[in-house]
Parts: sequence; structure tokens; C-alpha cells
Amino acid sequence: MAAAASVTGLVTWARSLVRSRCLGRRLSLSGPRPEAATNPVNRSLNDHGNGLRRGARGGGGGSLVAGRGSGAAAAAVAVAPAPALSAMQRGSPERELAVAEAAAEAEEEQLSVDAGAAGEPERPAREEQPKAALPVTARPRAAEEGDVRVARRLPPALPLAPPRPVARALCQLAKGRSRGRGRYRRGSGSLWPVTVDSSKARTSLDALKISLRQLRWKEFPFGRRLPCDIYWHGVSFRDSDILSGQVNKFPGMTEMVRKITLSRALRIMQNLFPDEYNFYPRSWILPEEFQLFVTEVRMVKDGDPTWKPTFIVKPDSGCQGDGIYLIKDPNDIRMTGTLQNRPAVVQEYICKPLLIDNLKFDIRLYVLLKSLEPLEIYIAKDGLSRFCTEPYHEPNPQNLHHIFMHLTNYSLNIHSGKFVHSDSASTGSKRTFSSILCRLSSKGIDIKKVWSDIISLVIKTVIALTPELKVFYQSDIPTGRPGPTCFQILGFDILLMKNLKPMLLEVNANPSMRIEHEYELSPGVFENIPSLVDEEVKVAVIRDTLRLMNPLKKKEMQSQHSGKPFTGKEDLDCDLTGDPDSNPEAHLPSICLKQVFPKYAKQFNYLRLVDRMANLFIRFLGIKGTMKLGPTGFRTFIRNCKLSSSSLSMAAVDILYIDITRRWNSVALDQRDSGMCLQAFVEAFFFLAQRKFKLLPLLEQVASLIDLCEYHLSLLDEKRLVCGRGRRPQSSPPHETNPTTQSAAGSPAPRIIGAYKLSHSRHALS
Ligand code: ADP
Repeated sequence: MAAAASVTGLVTWARSLVRSRCLGRRLSLSGPRPEAATNPVNRSLNDHGNGLRRGARGGGGGSLVAGRGSGAAAAAVAVAPAPALSAMQRGSPERELAVAEAAAEAEEEQLSVDAGAAGEPERPAREEQPKAALPVTARPRAAEEGDVRVARRLPPALPLAPPRPVARALCQLAKGRSRGRGRYRRGSGSLWPVTVDSSKARTSLDALKISLRQLRWKEFPFGRRLPCDIYWHGVSFRDSDILSGQVNKFPGMTEMVRKITLSRALRIMQNLFPDEYNFYPRSWILPEEFQLFVTEVRMVKDGDPTWKPTFIVKPDSGCQGDGIYLIKDPNDIRMTGTLQNRPAVVQEYICKPLLIDNLKFDIRLYVLLKSLEPLEIYIAKDGLSRFCTEPYHEPNPQNLHHIFMHLTNYSLNIHSGKFVHSDSASTGSKRTFSSILCRLSSKGIDIKKVWSDIISLVIKTVIALTPELKVFYQSDIPTGRPGPTCFQILGFDILLMKNLKPMLLEVNANPSMRIEHEYELSPGVFENIPSLVDEEVKVAVIRDTLRLMNPLKKKEMQSQHSGKPFTGKEDLDCDLTGDPDSNPEAHLPSICLKQVFPKYAKQFNYLRLVDRMANLFIRFLGIKGTMKLGPTGFRTFIRNCKLSSSSLSMAAVDILYIDITRRWNSVALDQRDSGMCLQAFVEAFFFLAQRKFKLLPLLEQVASLIDLCEYHLSLLDEKRLVCGRGRRPQSSPPHETNPTTQSAAGSPAPRIIGAYKLSHSRHALS
């Protein structure tokens, strides 16, 4: 690889190979990961092997202390199983209301059926399905699960609702009490609330429950036999088989944001767009690039003996600072023991972070990937800032192992003894990001520029992730087969450098949505207590994500746009004000998520080259469900795109395939399928581009080859379409057109005829 500029502007790298082994010091504390915690609250203490004894992390509902738990209790009442309702004793107002509401639902169901019979508009077909499909044996169970809709369809012999006159009276009572609460889809003309399956929400359950209560949507905490509108998963897309609705995880996201995969995806972009992707520290993948790392560092040091770099070693699958350590010399990397089995990333350490109160801090920003196709990205207007608990000094051999000085992880610093809990958003060891921006602004710093740079970093990172995500997506949810649509909240960890440049540290597929923190009652004794700062930020993010994903609103938008399909560009805020009767969200604050893509698509579409390569790759994958290209698929790609020539025989193509595929398979984490993965295809593509357009710079080589491939494929598609009609295709090859034609570089695979234009606008974002 050619020499490249370092992100800090200090280093120039070149490639050669040397290997060395030595031990480095371990910095981190090991411990459980909150995202993975599933146990209910356990106040007993565990020793997690780090010398500190801390309380087990709570998961699920009920882990909030008194005063906060009322919400969960109320939600539980709202979804109380129907038989349980009949078993309730008389007397308390809550119970009366619950009974009344159930009766009201039964009444409204009856009324709507009657109205339907009298020629009123029918209820959505989705609601009718279970009536026919539900087996008789399933009924009691569905009722147990709290499915009031199913329960209402049970034969009248079952004691679900009071006798009709009583029901009518209770119905009036419930209607009176719920008037203006927007419990049902009033604005939409439908009586049904949005349904959310929260049975797999894990540690995000508390924040989710509060959000659902604010939205007045219907929660199914134990899952549901009928389909729900939205499935909220704590960890993974694969948590269960979902055939419809929306799920809050993308297939493959967890794999994509692991440190090695993310580094690889960003490195491809750094090779193509070094200036645009200089927000990610220079990284090497261990153990495979260890020799490269040693050599590059040695070469720079030889050129500049005053250079005293620091590197940070991060295990690939680690989180919460687990297993991370700093080194001054490549030989300090621990090659013995775990590293061979536990791959890692070694990265330039950012030595000059922005400090506040002399402390290092990072930013956790929440980003909603609302859709992959078309790409839609939202950023939460507020995030969290997590502070170190020991004053910062630039790394030296004496302080390298001071984790509370160098690592901002909350899960580590909580144990420093100096962690400051605060209910104020602008003080303590965890604050809102907006409070930091206020503080910077008061010092005269241009915070608009900081925001603009952060938005740009987020969009570019998502653009780097989307190609492979698309491959995962088509594999898990092939076109034409039943499956859910996906969205996902990502946690971006960003460090501001002293010069205010934001640097990406990592992306979390499952950012912690816990709204409580550990409080040390006495040395070694911890208790979970509510964290107002977490609650303020995280509940807003979940609630507003749900608002944006509201299936009903999408339908409304579609009908408002006179039958035109929903593009995602419509402003969903538009109907959030006004008449509370017609707008069930009138009581909510304005949406905290800001759309940044496609809003800024014009400025960033030129970066989506690998996306276009992924479209080519997917086209030739052949059998749905696979993620790797077989030798025949690769040959067909070469043939259909007319890439073979006298200088590139099909035999050479086969050798290229075998060579690259074998190398990638030896380092790939996913060994499920054999064949060529997307990253191997990208490498092969770069190779072919370099051969075909020798005299151009790399970016133009690649862009020209994409243009050429897309041209030939569009020609082929056109031929297939018109072949029976005796019309000749009209397109002309890319090299014959104006070379400055602007590429749209979007997805789905655009049919771009014309060479890639390198000049593009780089506007500041607002
Ligand atoms: P984890 O997933 O284990 O939290 P991160 O990549 O987020 O791993 O790193 C943990 C912490 O280490 C970060 O929160 C940050 O404080 C610090 N850190 C990580 N990478 C760098 C870097 N390149 N330069 C400076 N600090 C870093």
C-alpha cells in the first residue's frame, strides 16, 4: 500500500513485514456487560474477578427503585390478561378503570363490527386475519398472554366482559377517563393502538416501557401469538423468527460494527477517500497485520527520532474497556496467550483530546438507521458525555496503565471511587452532550461547526457500513419472501480532539439503554438507582424512534401524498401540532431526532462507490440466502461486464478468484459459507480497475470500472427487455460520454452512464 497520511498529521506510513513479540501491561477491569445482562435484579454481590465487588446489573422490568416503578406497574395494568381482569376484586379505582377499559374495548369492538355490517369502512384486513386463522385450542393461551383483541373474540360463555348494559356504562366511564389521552388511533380513523412486542427488550425494557406509556401504545411484555407492529429486541435481529412488522435490529449489524470489521470497512473508504475518512485513527488488525504494524512504526521512527507515539490495543469482541491496554512500542503487544485466539485492533492513540475540568471525556451519540434502502439516517439532538475520573496527562510510561485517566468508559470509571453522580445534566461524570456544547459555546467556540463535523462523520461511517449490511439483509430477508422491515439505534462513540475535530472511536450495535446507574452505598456495596441524565436522553431517543417508525403514520403519509409511495423525505414533524383530538401526539415534545440523510444526500452520495460495488456483488450472488460469491458467479460477473480480454483470460480470472478468496477465508471470522465475501470482491474489483485504467488515480480507476460494469449490465437488461420487440438498445458506453457527468452514486444500483466526477460540493451542514 502506498504511504498514507496519519489522522493526527504526525505520521507517514509505508508497508513491509517484521514480527516481534513481547508482553504489555494490562489496563482493563473485566466485568459483565450490561447489554448482555438478562438476569432480574439481584442485590447480592458478585466478584467479577477484578477485585471489585459490585451489584449484579438489573435487567428487565422492576429493576427501578420505588418511585420509578410505577410506570412499569401502570403498563402492566394496561396489558393485564383478560382472565385476570375477571378475577380482580372490586374496589380500587385502577382496577375499575382497567375493567372499564377492557369493557370499553369489547364494546367498541362490537360497535365497529356492527358499523361494518351497516356499511361503514371496514377495519384493516390485518385485524381480521386471526379470526379465521386462530385455532380453538389457541384461544385461552392468547388471552393469558394479555391479547385483549383475541380475548374479545372468544365465545360469550367466557367471562371476559360484564353484561352488556354494565359494559356500556363502564365503556362511558372509560371513554370519559381516556378522552384526550389519544389511546387509540383517533387521528387515523382507526381504533387500534400500535402494538409493540417488548418480550426481548432486555436492558432497554425500562426506557421502552416509559416511551410506550408516553405514546399510549400497547405493549406485549410476554410476546404475542398474533403479529405485532413493532418488535423491540435488546440484542439481535436473530432473537426470533419474525415474518412481518418492524424489528429494531438489522441482520448483520453486530458483526459489522465489531472493531475489526469496522476498521476494514473504514479502511476501504480511507483508501478511496483519504481526506474524507481521516476521522478514524489509523488501525492495524492483529494478529495478521502485526508485522506490518511493527515495520510501519519503525520506518516512521527512523525518519523522525523525536516521534514518541502511543497505541491502544482493543480486543475485537471486547466492550466497556474490557481487555484494552496502551503501549508505547509495538513490541509491547502481548502476542502470547489470548491474542492469537482473540483478534484485536491496535490503533493510534489520540494523545491530545479536548479536556473539560482537566478531564478526558467522550461523546455517545444515538443514530437511527431508519432504512437501508433508501438510506435514511437520523441523529439524536442530544447525547451523553462520559468523563474520566482522574486528571488527564499525555501518555508516558508511568501513566500508561492509569485507566481512569485514559479510558472514558462509564463501566470502568464508576469503580474509581471518584465518580460523581449528579441529577444535573451539566455536572458530574456523566452529562448531556448539549450541556458540553453550551459550555463550549460560552467560550466562543463555533459549535455549529462541531455539529456539522459530527453529522458528516456519522453519515460517512454509515455509508461505509451499508454495503455489507445490504449483503446481510438480502441473505436474511430475500426480496419477495415474508420478513420484517428493520431499523436500528446505533451508539456512536466520538472523541473531540483539542482542535475540536471529532474522531470516531467505535460504533455500538446495542448501545446501553439502561436508565439507572450503580451507586456505591458503602465500599463494595452497590445499588441500582435511577439516572435522570440517562432517562432524559435515552427515553427521548426510544420514544422518538418509535414515533418515526409509527406504521400508522407511514400509511397516513402515503395517503396524504395522493398515493405516491413514502420516500422517507417527508417531514414527519409536520402533523405533530394542532388539534389534540385529531393528533394523538400533541402532548409530546417535538421529535429529538434530526434527519441527516437523505437531507444531505447531495453532499455525500459521491462517497457511495462501495455501495454500488455491493449492488453488483448481490446481483451475481445467485441463490438467495448466500453471502458469498461462487466461482461461477464471479465468472458470470466478468463475462456480463465484459471485463475479460486478451490480457485477462478466463483462466486468469479463475486464478484471481482462488487467490483472493483463499486469503480472505483464512482471516474471515464468518466461516459458514465458502466463496468470495464482499470485501474479497472489493479487493478483486480494485485489482481489475487498476489493470483496466492504469493511468488514472485509484479513485478514478474504481469509479470508471463501476461505470463500465453498470453500463454493460444496463445494456444487458435493456436487451433482455426489448429482444422480442426488435428494437436496438440506445445507450452509449461510459467512455464515450462527457467525462465530467456527475455520478448519482445512490442505491438501488443506479444506471450511470458517464465517468465519475471527482469534483463535488463540500458544503457545511447545519
Ligand atoms: P470499548 O468497546 O471496549 O469501550 P472503545 O473503542 O470504545 O472500546 O475504547 C474504550 C475507551 O478507550 C474509549 O471510550 C476511549 O476513552 C478510549 N479510546 C479508544 N480508542 C482511543 C484512541 N484511539 N485514542 C484515545 N482514546 C481512545
